[in-house]
Amino acid sequence: MTAIDAGALPRFATLDPVTGEEIDTFPVDDERSVREKVDRARRASAAWDRLGHAGRRQLLLAWRRVMARRLPEIIALMERENGKVKADALIEMTAALTHLDWAARHSGKVLRRRRVPSGLLMANQYATVEYRPFGVIGVIGPWNYPVHTPLGSLAYALAAGNAVVFKPSEYTPAIGAWLADTFAEAVPGHDVLVLATGDGGTGAALCTACVDKIAFTGSARTGARVLAACAPSLTPVLLELGGKDALVVAADADVDAAVESALWGACSNAGQSCAGIERVYVAAPVYERFLGRCAERARELRAGTDFGPVTMPGQLDVIRRHIDDALARGGRAVVGGPESVRPPYVLGPVVLADVPEDSAAVREETFGPVLVVNRVADAEEGVERANASAYGLGGAVFARRGGLRLAERMRTGMVSVNDVLSFPAVPSLPFGGRGASGFGRIHGPDGLREFTVPKAVTRKLFDVPLTVSSYARGAKDMQRLQRLVTFINSR
Ligand code: NAD
Repeated sequence: MTAIDAGALPRFATLDPVTGEEIDTFPVDDERSVREKVDRARRASAAWDRLGHAGRRQLLLAWRRVMARRLPEIIALMERENGKVKADALIEMTAALTHLDWAARHSGKVLRRRRVPSGLLMANQYATVEYRPFGVIGVIGPWNYPVHTPLGSLAYALAAGNAVVFKPSEYTPAIGAWLADTFAEAVPGHDVLVLATGDGGTGAALCTACVDKIAFTGSARTGARVLAACAPSLTPVLLELGGKDALVVAADADVDAAVESALWGACSNAGQSCAGIERVYVAAPVYERFLGRCAERARELRAGTDFGPVTMPGQLDVIRRHIDDALARGGRAVVGGPESVRPPYVLGPVVLADVPEDSAAVREETFGPVLVVNRVADAEEGVERANASAYGLGGAVFARRGGLRLAERMRTGMVSVNDVLSFPAVPSLPFGGRGASGFGRIHGPDGLREFTVPKAVTRKLFDVPLTVSSYARGAKDMQRLQRLVTFINSR
């Protein structure tokens, strides 16, 4: 972020990661301006809530239509500000619009008030549960999927009836501004998507600005800071953090299909995907075949055509360190190597084999088009190694038989069988991880409920001839209650 002092708030520039050219400048929102924005969102939130699910559905679908109409514009901006190749930008927008559509259409069904059984002892009560919006949600986003990732919180939070203050990454503020701009065009008169721009300081200010919940997506390190910042005010937090996803290839797998998926899972978006494939564990009987085919196909892929540059310059140092460390510890560079790292690109996929499990390339998030391929005795051992990670976001299994059983044993929030990264595109599925990958869920019914408070209401329908919760009760009432409890619980 380049600071430029201008006007009341300092401004920062957003740059093209390939040319270094300035794209635009944005204010660095400070504590005071963030608070003002939260107040603004809060003032708008009551009317948004009153619209109800049907009213919001119409407006959110209108937002979806505006974004669809302006698709070429955002794809060009994602190429420019984020460095994505066109295909990656289009795939991201496809998933993002699918989620907005799903959240708009399903919030009523998932969240509206419904009657629940009140049980034999409380049969005189009409019991309902309803999922009420929190009020104002602070959404802090990363740069790697600058539309799809924040929209996983924005669309679901808005559909649930909240207002949001959205702080996009300092690497993608123009894309964040485009989201706010299209919302304002489609939904005039409802100031419920308020943009706050700036770096980590602005994000930190949002955590302490009296929002009702923070939805954070980013690295595990920053996630821990967000959690600590929210602790004193007991502000609830949703944490969507990093990953080190593994693909397990069983001896009976379709090896060619597994290779194609592994390479796409590792290289799409230049490997900068939280749920990208970074490790592959291949059963010994098919290991050499997998590695040979993987090397052949990897040599055909090119940066600039098949995937874009690394968006954050500092990440190239991390990628190079992981490659160097893997080789120093006895791993092999099968395709590419340290020389592949040429700012702002990793020139082609780097395929490393037989990398010790205590290497940085196996343990830490690499976030580049680098694939570690290791041999295991069988798929069971592959799952064990996959699970020996601090992260637990997603993963994949390739097997002709028993794939679901292996998927069940993966210690992650999500798994694809005979495919990779298919779960984020299914809107009714929850997205999120465990361990160092965070907690809470976006997407699907769980993602809608994440932005609500379950509200339990009971309404007394009639008096019963047994007085318990009143001091008008007598000894006889207690004797009858005891008989009743014994009878009910002895069945
Ligand atoms: P990051 O943690 O550096 O930054 C994320 C956001 O947090 C940015 O907007 C940043 O300005 C803000 N921030 C920084 N310091 C802050 C602070 N102290 N308080 C509040 N906010 C602060 O992450 P990044 O580099 O932008 O994104 C990449 C990371 O995000 C990777 O680890 C990736 O795996 C993860 N990610 C996870 C998911 C998921 O859904 N699980 C999705 C996309 C990306």
